[in-house]
Amino acid sequence: MHCASPLVHLVGAGPGDPELLTLKAARVLSQAEVVMVDDLVNPAILEHCPQARIIRVGKRGGCRSTPQEFINRLMLRYARQGRRLVRLKGGDPCVFGRAGEEAQWLAARGIASETVNGITAGLAGATQCGIPLTLRGLSRGVTLVTAHTRDDSELNWQGLAQGGTTLVVYMGVARLEQIQQGLLAGGMPASTPVAMIERASLPDQRHHACTLAQLCVEAGHFELESPAVLVIGEVVAASAMLAGIAPLSSAVVSTATPMQPASI
Ligand code: SAH
Repeated sequence: MHCASPLVHLVGAGPGDPELLTLKAARVLSQAEVVMVDDLVNPAILEHCPQARIIRVGKRGGCRSTPQEFINRLMLRYARQGRRLVRLKGGDPCVFGRAGEEAQWLAARGIASETVNGITAGLAGATQCGIPLTLRGLSRGVTLVTAHTRDDSELNWQGLAQGGTTLVVYMGVARLEQIQQGLLAGGMPASTPVAMIERASLPDQRHHACTLAQLCVEAGHFELESPAVLVIGEVVAASAMLAGIAPLSSAVVSTATPMQPASI
């Protein structure tokens, strides 16, 4: 069976703040019959699809989760029934969101899909903290990286440490020691500033900054929990400089700790 127009939309719900949803995502949701939703999605987003049947299919690293094969088969079943299906994922579906795998799996079975971007957590988190991910003279690029690999293989720490880009690390909370040791061994200065940003863009966002040398100790004091991203690079220190120009949103100020640690 082959569908002319995609019945399956792989949609990014953004990082949490319902206002960071795209207009296209809101429209596709409002037309959906079935929405299969990941557990990092803010439930408030579902106000755009009161008409749809909601199926929760969490897939959180380390926790009880719905097997990918089950999710795939369920998507296929709804698509073959001709139902308008949205697969709703946190952030952007193509950034550590398996949209590519799911689209390929569906395509191999004759089901076309369309992906709708969302704002990925790392970009939103940095912006909420006033951190410019690129800044002329300080950072010439951004590298999005996950600390979590399927086969526990090592990252190219030297390449990451010396690449001259701001690093944004996803799924790193349980691997802070490897990240710290890897980057230090790869040649990144111990004084490099790091921001840890938990629940980016949500009303209970928390964030804290320290140096790479202090990362594990500071994360312990801060009681950092998932979901969180790390932003690593000189631009983190620039956020303190920009704070007066681009104040943190009021939702964040109430729970925020100062971004500038004494040692930066
Ligand atoms: N597709 C998502 C990423 C999914 S992987 C995106 O584009 O954002 C899950 C990881 O994303 C979490 O372990 C965490 O590192 C990060 N993450 C997701 N939502 C987050 C949030 N609101 N604040 C901080 N980190 C978040």
